Amino acid sequence: ISGDVMSDCLFCKIIGGEIPVKKLYEDDDVFAFWDIAPQAPKHFLVVPKKHITGPADLAAEDEQLIGKMMRVGAQLAKEQGIGDGFRTVLNNGIQAGQTVFHIHMHILGGRDLQWPPG
Ligand code: 5GP
Ligand code: ZN
Repeated sequence: ISGDVMSDCLFCKIIGGEIPVKKLYEDDDVFAFWDIAPQAPKHFLVVPKKHITGPADLAAEDEQLIGKMMRVGAQLAKEQGIGDGFRTVLNNGIQAGQTVFHIHMHILGGRDLQWPPG
């Protein structure tokens, strides 16, 4: 599933090791790292190695990959001690606050999380 690197994409550079991050997990398909500006005591990102712009750009062939992001993210949440209370977020588009246009799943936990999120 991996491949399709974009040279001007921040997260492709992070995946490629060009920009250092605190890495949590990596395999052939997905990469997870701690967010540089955490919005909760535990806040990390799970991204596919394949460059996909955002949720609105998913193709049928990406379904297995996105399912794997979810499963790996939940497993990492458990390992980080937030398995009983965490939130997954995928922002799509500028109005929703997407700032990096390489699809990423936020996982946040370690505090009470408001609902609705605003
Ligand atoms: P978005 O707002 O696009 O949904 O989320 C992008 C996330 O990437 C933000 O939470 C932001 O803090 C994080 N981020 C942006 N640049 C970097 C970086 O260079 N390193 C790390 N670790 N996180 C980053
Ligand atoms: Zn990318």
